[in-house]
Amino acid sequence: MSRRWACLIGQPVAHSLSPLLHNAAFAAVGLEAHYEAHEVAPDRLAEAVAGLRQADCLGANVTAPHKQSVVSLLDSVSEEARTLGAVNTIINQDGRLHGDNTDARGLARWMSEAGMEVLGRSALVLGAGGAARAVVLALARLGAARVQVLNRNQARAAALVDDLAPRLAATSLLTGPLELASRPAGEPWPIVVNTTSAGDYGRGPVVHMSWYSPASVAIELAYHPPETVFMRAARQAGARAENGLGMLVHQAALAFECWTGRQAPLDVYLKAAQLPVRA
Ligand code: NDP
Repeated sequence: MSRRWACLIGQPVAHSLSPLLHNAAFAAVGLEAHYEAHEVAPDRLAEAVAGLRQADCLGANVTAPHKQSVVSLLDSVSEEARTLGAVNTIINQDGRLHGDNTDARGLARWMSEAGMEVLGRSALVLGAGGAARAVVLALARLGAARVQVLNRNQARAAALVDDLAPRLAATSLLTGPLELASRPAGEPWPIVVNTTSAGDYGRGPVVHMSWYSPASVAIELAYHPPETVFMRAARQAGARAENGLGMLVHQAALAFECWTGRQAPLDVYLKAAQLPVRA
């Protein structure tokens, strides 16, 4: 077979790290394949997805704004993607396209590897978009006792919780307005995750310093710039703060495994993202 390929489908994609990560991994395992980012407008999505059925295509990653709309163009989707209502990875199985979502598994793997203790703890999730669903699922799977979702649009937070609560019986799910985070908290929370896209635009939801203690970890899902307004405020309040690069690397490594059936070279992904490689 000729050289294989995979791609990212989204708009915009110019700043994506995915080509760098996956091309490094393909080269490291000796796979004759390359990965490119494709800028795809919503009215060209069906055409772009049809192109993935070619024999030499391994599959694709999907990013905003297509993660939800792509579902109806696929032949099958995993239980995970159905639960999240979104696909971030497409696998070409001999011309049939299968959708999966590696965001929640990627976040859970990274949090475990980075020593973030979730079991029996409370977590605050800011935002209620597609990424927030994956975050709530990951936190519940890691055994969070309570997850509170705060969003500007409260109906969206309520819909997220109504959808996920029946599947996550062991975790208590609550909602509230985003402004709640800017007011003093009764006690510090161990985990605060910013899933709003405000960080992408150099802004951040305001979190009152009383939500944090030195034992807290604040996670920003965005990773550009490396330290966002939300992360800086958390550090000033004494908390550990991390951006979304670790999650990006782990969800990418899981996508590699979906496409190739091989174990991903995680150290290669970490090095390409300039993250420390653990011994
Ligand atoms: P969505 O568009 O689905 O959701 C956006 C969320 O951000 C909504 O809750 C929205 O609130 C909120 N929001 C947007 N602007 C503001 C603002 N100015 N102030 C407060 N809230 C705001 O996006 P996604 O959930 O798909 O992505 C969210 C973030 O996560 C992005 O930065 C994305 O890059 C990042 N991400 C990172 C990944 C990784 O691997 N590291 C993986 C996936 C996503 P409302 O509902 O009220 O409009």
